[in-house]
Amino acid sequence: MAATRRPGRNHLFVPGPTNIPDRVMRAMMVQSEDHRSVDFPALTKPLFEDTKAVYGSKDGTIFLFPASGTGIWESALSNTLSRGDKVLASRFGQFSHLWIDMAERLGLEVIVQDEEWGTGANPERIGEALRADKNHEIKAVMVVHNETATGVTSDVGAVRQAIDAAGHPTLLFADGVSSIGSLPFKMDEWKVDCAIAGSQKGLMLPAGLGVICVSQKALKAAETSSGQNDRLAHVYFDWADHQKQNPAGYFPYTPSLPLLYGLREALACLNEEGLENVYHRHHVLGEATRQAVAAWGLKTCAKEPKWNSDTVTAILVPEGVDAAAIIKHAYVRYNLALGAGLSKVAGKVFRIGHVGDMNELSLLGAIAGAEMAMLDHGVKVQPGSGVAAASSYLRENPLSKS
Ligand SMILES: *Cc1c(COP(=O)(O)O)cnc(C)c1O
Repeated sequence: MAATRRPGRNHLFVPGPTNIPDRVMRAMMVQSEDHRSVDFPALTKPLFEDTKAVYGSKDGTIFLFPASGTGIWESALSNTLSRGDKVLASRFGQFSHLWIDMAERLGLEVIVQDEEWGTGANPERIGEALRADKNHEIKAVMVVHNETATGVTSDVGAVRQAIDAAGHPTLLFADGVSSIGSLPFKMDEWKVDCAIAGSQKGLMLPAGLGVICVSQKALKAAETSSGQNDRLAHVYFDWADHQKQNPAGYFPYTPSLPLLYGLREALACLNEEGLENVYHRHHVLGEATRQAVAAWGLKTCAKEPKWNSDTVTAILVPEGVDAAAIIKHAYVRYNLALGAGLSKVAGKVFRIGHVGDMNELSLLGAIAGAEMAMLDHGVKVQPGSGVAAASSYLRENPLSKS
């Protein structure tokens, strides 16, 4: 049977992959090129420099891998750590869970701090664990900056302060896959040692380009661990192989050329808008979404305002309603893709991604569609209430600061 034709455009509101700006799509439509040519570095060398801006870094080193965000998690862990090393990680959603699972499967000893889903990393508890670690056996602290499963943003700066207050030499790893390029991220100020991003969220590209920004301290840790027998195995993700080639603008293996052209254009988009405006726009779109949720009489998965994410909102549906059915109906009936509830919150939440290339009216489309889908499934929201609340907020709060 042929696939159903769904006329009009699909409204993509999953929190990744996100909508790709037309000019970025056009920039990626390129013929293949020799990636060892004399011309190639003109494209690549500025990318290593320019990408640092979205990380809030001047001192870091960027590595670009043909990979998704999950590969970059592995790159951070495997380059710097050795088998049996202790790492400290907070778990409060599906992505923090999966990263911990990876660390365990790689052979690390993970000290897990479980936090309630809907909250985030707890700097006080992290500080306590570090103070108790008198022999400095903990080699890294892992934090998911923006937990995409629950719509929660953690305070990485406060985690850094807790580490410093404990006087602990641990590395700090932050997953910024759904925050970098859309939420303020301060790699240098927070002294993050490995900051992880993927291409398909804030960077508005297809999946497939993994980006990591690495501190001097993490590079040192990688050099030190490379002499040891119990170092975690890493070949494809070895930074040292990239360090030999990147300064001249080359890669140890074939990069994805369209994604590199796309990255150049996406960075130009962010730069033209101005990062401060980008962050502000995400905040306004996030707040408008939350105003809609409140007008519906529903609650977000994020337990308190301090946890609110400006890139994704997870919305709890009333008891007895199946959120998965609403998501399916929104897609089939209204051509609207909402984010599913993952793992513990499956069936209990649907997510509206407001990350990447988005403006007022596209967001209002998603809010209207979510409202219609909920009404169709017996959720007693006042018709039009979410759209009304969000639109009056948006009229009062321009997306651009300047
Ligand atoms: C999407 C996401 C990932 C996983 O990235 P993939 O590109 O799907 O491998 C990791 N962490 C967070 C917070 C994410 O949102």
